[in-house]
Amino acid sequence: MAQEGNRQIAAERIEILLSLAQEWLKPRPARARGCILLARKIGRRYNVRFSTKQKMLFCKKCSTPLIAGYNLTVRLSRPARALLYICKNCGYAAKFRYGKKKQGKKPE
Ligand SMILES: [Zn+2]
Repeated sequence: MAQEGNRQIAAERIEILLSLAQEWLKPRPARARGCILLARKIGRRYNVRFSTKQKMLFCKKCSTPLIAGYNLTVRLSRPARALLYICKNCGYAAKFRYGKKKQGKKPE
């Protein structure tokens, strides 16, 4: 189906936009943010989900691309069993759980 082909292209565009955003973060922060916003928009339009790896590349709240040591602090939270990705732009802390338990999720 044509719909399926569009989703494939959308996924590729998202991948390209995310890597461009990382490159442009230092010289052109506004443009880098635009790339992330566009990638997220394409994801919504074509119902393409971001992988966990892709989600770790930008801030969920302010859509700024994240580079560890530059605008990102990474902390471990033992009680929550999670990686905390703290955005230095807006202060939002994204949680990425680690460890064995995956509740309510089907194995892939
Ligand atoms: Zn942020």
